[in-house]
Amino acid sequence: MKKQGSCGCGAVQYSFEANKPRIINCHCSMCRAFNGAAFSTYVIIPADSFSFRDEAAHLASYCKENATKFFCRECGSPVFNSHAKYQTIRLIHFGSIHDSSDIQPKLNVWCENHLQWSMRLDQLKNFEHGMA
Ligand SMILES: [Zn+2]
Ligand SMILES: [Zn+2]
Repeated sequence: MKKQGSCGCGAVQYSFEANKPRIINCHCSMCRAFNGAAFSTYVIIPADSFSFRDEAAHLASYCKENATKFFCRECGSPVFNSHAKYQTIRLIHFGSIHDSSDIQPKLNVWCENHLQWSMRLDQLKNFEHGMA
């Protein structure tokens, strides 16, 4: 699988190539707070398969408990996470990947912290566009 991605404003641009990457939903409370979402979807890839255009110019980072979140310093979009104990992998924030329609999460982790409703998204009312 070969993919490209970017932050919301486009200042951060990256690409990676990974063979059958694991794709997970993380329900831990740290990801929830850092990303402002009920759960966070990540594509886990080898660190050496990941490359940036102009990495240093636009990425900022924040580290807590061995986990480092990298985000665009211009628009704040999360781009990827790294972990001090697992230095050979990167967790790409799913939403930053272009053309992600062919990849989907296969498992949920940190379910002890999950929100009950987050496992029943198919029971919500759906609108094609906004509600207005
Ligand atoms: Zn940006
Ligand atoms: Zn998490």
